[in-house]
Amino acid sequence: MDAEGFLPDARFVASPNFDARPAGCTIDLIVIHAISLPPECFGGPGVEQLFTNCLDPLAHPYYAGIHHLRVSSHFLIRRDGCIEQFVPTIQRAWHAGVSSWGGRERCNDFSIGIELEGSDTQPFDAAQYPALAELIRAIVRRHPISDIAGHCDIAPGRKTDPGPFFDWPLLATLLR
Ligand SMILES: [Zn+2]
Repeated sequence: MDAEGFLPDARFVASPNFDARPAGCTIDLIVIHAISLPPECFGGPGVEQLFTNCLDPLAHPYYAGIHHLRVSSHFLIRRDGCIEQFVPTIQRAWHAGVSSWGGRERCNDFSIGIELEGSDTQPFDAAQYPALAELIRAIVRRHPISDIAGHCDIAPGRKTDPGPFFDWPLLATLLR
C-alpha cells in the first residue's frame, strides 16, 4: 500500500463515489462485504458498473432498483482472487451506509471496505481467502487497524453480508 493509499498489485478502476475523510480521522476498521451482480451471478461487469455509475437499468430487472445508487468500496476480490481497487484507502469510500461500530456512527469515516464477489447463499471460492488475508496484511502495514467486522455487524437488521457462508475462522487462521 503506497502513501496515497493505492495497492500496487490491484487493478485500479476509478470510482467517483468517494470524498475526503473527516480531518484527523484514524482509519482503524476493515469492513467485509459480499456482492454479486446480477445477484448470484459471478464474473460479470455489474459490480464495476455499479461502483462507476455505469449500471444499465435495462440490462437486468434487478438493476432498475439500484442503478441510481452512488456507492463504492475500496476493494473488490473476485472469485479467482484477483483484487480490484476503486478508491484509495486514504479517501472515504461509500460502502457502509447507516452504520455503527464501537459506539461510533458513520463507519465510512474510519473504515476500509472490502467486497468479496459472493452471496448469502453459496460458499466463497477458496481462492478468495488467501487474497483477502494478503490484502488485509497490506492494509495493516499502512493503517492502524484494530478491528475487522462484517457489514452485518455494523448495520445489523439492515445488512446480512458477507453472509452465513463467510468463513471467519479460516480468515482468522490465515491472519495468524
Ligand atoms: Zn455490504
